[in-house]
Amino acid sequence: MMDQTDNHAEIRAEVAKLCARFPGEYWRKLDEVRGYPTEFVNALTEAGWLAALIPEEFGGSGLPLSAAAAILEEVQRQGCNGAACHAQMYIMGTILRHGNDRQKAEYLPKIASGELRLQAFGVTEPTSGTDTTALRTVAKREGDKYIVNGQKIWTSRAEHSDLMLLLARTTPRDQVTKKTEGLSTFIVDMRTVLGKGLTIRPIRTMMNHNSCEVFFDNMEVPAENLVGVEGKGFRYILDGMNAERLLIAAECIGDAKWFIEKSVGYAKERVLFGRPIGQNQGVQFPIARAYAQMRAAEAIVQKGLEKFEAGVNPGEEANMGKMLAAEASWAAGEACVQTHGGFGFAEEYDIERKFRETRLYQVAPISTNLILSYLGEHVLGMPRSY
Ligand SMILES: Cc1cc2nc3c(=O)[nH]c(=O)nc-3n(C[C@H](O)[C@H](O)[C@H](O)COP(=O)(O)OP(=O)(O)OC[C@H]3O[C@@H](n4cnc5c(N)ncnc54)[C@H](O)[C@@H]3O)c2cc1C
Repeated sequence: MMDQTDNHAEIRAEVAKLCARFPGEYWRKLDEVRGYPTEFVNALTEAGWLAALIPEEFGGSGLPLSAAAAILEEVQRQGCNGAACHAQMYIMGTILRHGNDRQKAEYLPKIASGELRLQAFGVTEPTSGTDTTALRTVAKREGDKYIVNGQKIWTSRAEHSDLMLLLARTTPRDQVTKKTEGLSTFIVDMRTVLGKGLTIRPIRTMMNHNSCEVFFDNMEVPAENLVGVEGKGFRYILDGMNAERLLIAAECIGDAKWFIEKSVGYAKERVLFGRPIGQNQGVQFPIARAYAQMRAAEAIVQKGLEKFEAGVNPGEEANMGKMLAAEASWAAGEACVQTHGGFGFAEEYDIERKFRETRLYQVAPISTNLILSYLGEHVLGMPRSY
C-alpha cells in the first residue's frame, strides 16, 4: 500500500529485521519503569546503523543523510523508538564539520564502534528556553581548561551517554556586538566529571525519554575540548539543524505509517453491525486524511534530503518537513486511537504509548511556532518578530 518511494529499500528491510527482535512488549516493559533500551541501542550500534553518517575513514559507513532518514523512519515504523539514540546521528556532525583533526581521530572511530556514546546535547536551559542566545551557562578559560557553571534542562539521555556536546557562553552577552557571538561548543567527557562538578537528575515525563536536568558547578573541561573557534559555537549548532530537522521528520513519518497501518488493519477486521468498521466513512476518512498528510510531508522531506545531498540549503524544506511530519504523525495517532475505540487506550496495543511519544515532536527539538516564524521571516520576507 505505502512506501511508493522505495529508496534505500535494502536498508529498510535490514532495519525492520533488527526491530523485529524488539517487539511491543520490550518497549512496554521499559515504559513502565522509564528504562533505557540499552539492548536495542547496542543492537543498532553493532549493526552499524548509528554510524551511518560517520565517514568510512573514521570507521562509519559514510552513507548519505537520506539513508540515515530511512533508518530512523523504519525504526519508528516498526513500533520501536529511535529517540533513545537518534541524537548521536546529528550531534556527531558538529565534531565532523567543526572539530579539529585530533578530535575527529580521537572521538569519531570510538563513536562509530560504540566504545563511546555521544547521545547528550546540552543546549536548552530553564530560563532561556527557545531564546538560545540568552543562555546563562558560562565557561571561563583558566589556563589549559575551562571552568563551567550553570544549568541545562531537557538534556536527553545524559545518564546513558559518555559524551555531551555543550553550548556555553564564553564572552558575556553585553560584551559582544551580536548576541549570537560569544557562545562556544565543547565536547564534555561526562565520565571524568560526574560527581565532580557535574550532577544529572532525570525528569519523569509522560513518555519514556530519559531526559534530564544537568547542573555544572565549577566543572572543568580541558581547553582542547573546545570545538572550532571560541565564540563561534552558535553557528556550529545552527549548521546541524537542517539535518536534525530532516531526521526527526523522517521519524514522524515512520510513526504516521505505523499508526496508519494499525488503523487500516483494525478497520478491516473489526466487525460491528454486520460489517467492518472501516466500511463506515466516518472511520475511513480520518485515516485517509492522515495518510494524505503523511504523504505530503514525506514528499517535502524527500525534497529536503535531495537538496541537502546536493549541497543546496534545505532550510525551507527541513523546517516545513519537520512541522508537517509532526502534524501528520499526530493526526495519524489521533485517527488510530479513535479507530480502535476503547482498545486504543489499552497498553498492550502500543497505540497509547506511540501516541504519547509522537506528541513531543511538535515541541522538540523545535516548536511549531518557531518553524512558522522561520518561514514567515526567512522564506516569505515578512518583518522579524524577535
Ligand atoms: C522530552 C524532551 C527532550 C528534549 N531533549 C533536548 C535535548 O536533548 N537537548 C536540548 O538542548 N533540548 C532538549 N529539549 C528542549 C526542547 O528543544 C525545548 O523544549 C523546545 O525547544 C522548546 O523550548 P522550551 O521548552 O523552553 O519552551 P519555551 O521556549 O519556553 O516556549 C514555550 C512556548 O512558547 C512558544 N514561543 C516561544 N517564543 C515564541 C515566539 N517568539 N513566538 C511564538 N511562539 C513562541 C514556543 O513555541 C512554545 O510553544 C527537549 C525537550 C523535551 C520536552
